[in-house]
Amino acid sequence: MSQAPYNFRNTLSVLRRIEEKCGQTPGTVKLLVISKTMPPEVLQELYDECGVREFGENREPELAMKVAALPQDIKWHFIGPLQSNKVRKVVKLASVIHSVSSLSLIERIERIAKEEGKEPEFLLEVNVSGEASKGGFSLEELFAAAGAAGKCVHARWRGLMTMAPLDADDDTLEDIFCTLARLKKECEERCQLALPELSMGMSGDFPIAVAQGATIVRIGSRIFEGVEKMGK
Ligand SMILES: *Cc1c(COP(=O)(O)O)cnc(C)c1O
Repeated sequence: MSQAPYNFRNTLSVLRRIEEKCGQTPGTVKLLVISKTMPPEVLQELYDECGVREFGENREPELAMKVAALPQDIKWHFIGPLQSNKVRKVVKLASVIHSVSSLSLIERIERIAKEEGKEPEFLLEVNVSGEASKGGFSLEELFAAAGAAGKCVHARWRGLMTMAPLDADDDTLEDIFCTLARLKKECEERCQLALPELSMGMSGDFPIAVAQGATIVRIGSRIFEGVEKMGK
């Protein structure tokens, strides 16, 4: 390991500490490593030294580059804004799409999943805070989208995802995450199906998200502190 270009002595303990903060039986909350901007060598080290087998990426070209460069048994999550002309590529590369934010995307993912013989899992992104700059369904739009998502048979609707504002105080964060958990229950009742996943919580707010029932926390900067990003 001393030959390695990056020093990952501490990464394992960072991962364990985050898992501990998740404060639940190991395995109930998935710590998804968000590897955007990190060079493939760094992901390879996490794979080799820390046993990480799932990564989250937010741009299709970067995802494609890393899929080609890294071991085939990695499970990739797509977490970024999804343009309709990138759906086919993303469906081919990623097992889980967290950021589905329009009815037409749901329909397109379902159609392409069928055409490609894929069974991608997907989450509906909800703009709980209502920030204009954020993607995701408004609370009003969500239930119409849920109707369409629940009818998919090739793509599999697995739950909801949200991003909280970076500058929110703890009470606001608690409200946002609690609302997403309530919306998930409501979707389950309306659509008569089980939605196992709540993807919420990032480096700055994940303990609050976990307390409100997150099943996937998406952690980047906390893990990669001090690691040099890829050149453009
Ligand atoms: C970058 C990113 C994260 C990780 O954020 P950190 O604050 O670096 O942990 C999580 N979710 C999404 C959608 C992101 O784009």
